[in-house]
Amino acid sequence: MQEPIRELECPPRDRLEPFATTAADCRLLAIAIEQSPVATAITDAEGRFEFVNRRFIEVTGYRRDELLGQTPSLIKSGHTPLAVYQSLWRTLEAGEVWCGELLNRKKSGELYWEAEIITPVRDEASGAVRYVVVKEDITQRKRHESELRLLATAFETGQATLITDAEMRIERVNAAFTAITGYRAEEVIGETPRLFKSGRHDDAFYAALWEALLSTGHWQGEIWNRNKAGEVYPLWQSITAVRDDHGEIRNFVAVFHNISERKRMERELARQATRDHLTGALNRRGFDDALEAALAEARCLGRPLSLLIFDIDHFKAVNDCHGHDRGDAILQALAHRVQAALRSSDLLARWGGEEFTLLLPGTDASGARAIAERLRQMVASARFAGLGVTISLGGSGYRRGDSGGELLQRADAALYRAKGLGRNRVVMDGQGE
Ligand code: GH3
Ligand code: MG
Ligand code: MG
Repeated sequence: MQEPIRELECPPRDRLEPFATTAADCRLLAIAIEQSPVATAITDAEGRFEFVNRRFIEVTGYRRDELLGQTPSLIKSGHTPLAVYQSLWRTLEAGEVWCGELLNRKKSGELYWEAEIITPVRDEASGAVRYVVVKEDITQRKRHESELRLLATAFETGQATLITDAEMRIERVNAAFTAITGYRAEEVIGETPRLFKSGRHDDAFYAALWEALLSTGHWQGEIWNRNKAGEVYPLWQSITAVRDDHGEIRNFVAVFHNISERKRMERELARQATRDHLTGALNRRGFDDALEAALAEARCLGRPLSLLIFDIDHFKAVNDCHGHDRGDAILQALAHRVQAALRSSDLLARWGGEEFTLLLPGTDASGARAIAERLRQMVASARFAGLGVTISLGGSGYRRGDSGGELLQRADAALYRAKGLGRNRVVMDGQGE
């Protein structure tokens, strides 16, 4: 209830022309005032109530006989600052009309807000001054104002929000909207949200959005927009249609937040789930997914597909001599070198330990053999973490009806033969060497 107390602008004095000139007029006026929905009182020069109307009695909760002869201090709440009363009396003593808001207390103890107009009136006959007090209970309005202030604060400090009229013209945006989109309110008010279109969604997307919005009054989902700087970014957006008492749409309210970071983290998690930590190559799970996708293409489109498996020769001895950490550094460097030598469509995976698989979509067995030989020579002639190592490679080409397991198993058998034949060599499935 503690509100700033305002002094209101008062009606000019010259509007207060005397009206009652006859006894009949006076009687009519008395009836009008008694019936008036506005609480009215007349006090003597000391502020003692001489008259209170019915509404005044209703609002304060006091009986007429409890009020008459009393001063307004009876209904003072003690919450109105002294300065307000000082200003009130200064104004009245100067013969001016005072208007303001006071926080008073009913007989029940309940606090209530009143907007008051106090007019000093000089009785021409006796020369005495009286005060006419007209007041309106504005507690509801105050409550409403304070609710609006609360909502306005929530609007300004909340999630990015955009409000349009029924024709989708932007009426309001808040600070979070500006932070996300880069547009200030004055740059977008009167525009439509088409301003933010990224071009990423087709007509069917917007048609489905409108269909949901108009039939259920609500739509939420992911949408890509363009900010003021021209960058396209993903949002999670919730749009609600606001209807009036007749069911007509009056506004649309869109609340959104930027989900770029969330999507980046999701992508990173997905990447981590399919990658080997040490080498950054695909892990077994990533490789299995890629193999299934490549096999589906080979089956449907009749494209060639080959698979290589390679294993470092005598790696146990390298570890034993130089330590496991050095072994890890070799694995890392080797994976990077092989990766760098591949086409972007070729996929390298760490199959386990120091054994790698290589998926070569679009490459037949003889092409795979050439690639394998090139890799073998490259590894044999390079140094990894300061050491030289060799690899043995086995390969197989896709045959109609092959499963991934069969392709792998034939490549693995070829690798086994390469090891048996002395290592640092390539053996393709179905070939001696
Ligand atoms: P071969 O020529 O027959 O392949 O001989 P190898 O010693 O390399 O034998 P194998 O292929 O069975 O290799 C297994 C060894 O590889 C065991 C271990 O010392 C090493 N190794 C496997 N995984 C890792 C790893 O993650 N880090 C390191 N540093 N060494 C590994
Ligand atoms: Mg080995
Ligand atoms: Mg091995």
